[in-house]
Amino acid sequence: MTFIPVLKPRVADANIMLPHIRMIDDACCYTNHGPQERMLRTQFAAALGDRAVQEISLYSSGTAALIGAMQAWNLPAGTKCLVPAWTFIGSACAVAQAGLEPVIVDVDPESWAIDPDVIEEMATDQNIKACLIVSPFGATVPYPELSDIQERTGMQILVDGAASFDFVHKLAETRLDLPVPLMVSLHATKLVSSIEGGMVVTSNADMTRRMISWSNFGIFDDDPVTQIGTNAKLSEIHAAYGQHSLTSWPEIRQTLLTIADGYVEQITARLPDIAFAPNIREGMVSSSFNIILPKPFPQLGHQLAANGIGTRRWWKDGVHRFPAFKSYAAGPLPVTEDLAARTIGLPFYVGMTSDTVETVVAALETALADQSVSAG
Ligand SMILES: *Cc1c(COP(=O)(O)O)cnc(C)c1O
Repeated sequence: MTFIPVLKPRVADANIMLPHIRMIDDACCYTNHGPQERMLRTQFAAALGDRAVQEISLYSSGTAALIGAMQAWNLPAGTKCLVPAWTFIGSACAVAQAGLEPVIVDVDPESWAIDPDVIEEMATDQNIKACLIVSPFGATVPYPELSDIQERTGMQILVDGAASFDFVHKLAETRLDLPVPLMVSLHATKLVSSIEGGMVVTSNADMTRRMISWSNFGIFDDDPVTQIGTNAKLSEIHAAYGQHSLTSWPEIRQTLLTIADGYVEQITARLPDIAFAPNIREGMVSSSFNIILPKPFPQLGHQLAANGIGTRRWWKDGVHRFPAFKSYAAGPLPVTEDLAARTIGLPFYVGMTSDTVETVVAALETALADQSVSAG
């Protein structure tokens, strides 16, 4: 029995990378915003609706990019910042690492993101000055409303679109002005990958300047160093991998879309009680494929693994359930609790065949039938 993993990261083959590595060797420039990094920024700018290169900045990881963006807000240490409970723990880590106090809130049961009305309410009631809103597994977030809230209330908003290149790509193509910055992770498990890396896109030029400066010890050109930075630059090797991945994006997207469609078709036909994550309902491609079970089934992961199928509860029990973040929950989080108990990620990667999809759905069907029998 060959094991079907939940994910199979894929970057460019060594043979494809060799000429790039020689080019880096010839330039004798391995990092510090060299030619490869500039090329990747140029390519992203072109891909995202012919934007100015100055609107794109790159970092050593998605988490570093989030921290860089939040520290660029220049808010006093300890300022409260909303973050959803239903996200990857990295979102909340970034808030804390940026010197802000996470206020963990629940999400909307339909969109799986923080409801803009909640953001606005909390901004007035509780003196909350910032919000990290997460695009859940690549689903749309209401960008015009978020921009409007930022503009009207002065609250700082950042979109964690780590696995959402498809959404960010579509948004940036159709909208010139991007006052609310968007972060996309370039991690190997995400859609477009430099192995490790992160990108921020925003039309707020001051903010981009502060972020880049932060990622380079506070240094930007010959400006006096007015902020304490760190080292969060993207290396030339990583940038070269990123270029190749971005070139393959249309193909990657189409492949993943076909696999997702195959799942939807088979699951809808055979297991009509199963629902799909919001990005799937919207036709937005992400790097994971999440289903929602009609009721909790804690043993499902183990049962499928015993049948040679990998699954993952990508966001575990919610951020508030990690001991390190327990004290930051704003209150009860019933939607997250419910989603965490019923959501599971199925195998999803480029190279998966329709037979594999079939195998996974059949095993899922058997496991769910066994569960109903054993539950009487
Ligand atoms: C992957 C992910 C991150 C972290 O990105 P890295 O590039 O791995 O640092 C943050 N937030 C969300 C929602 C993610 O999925």
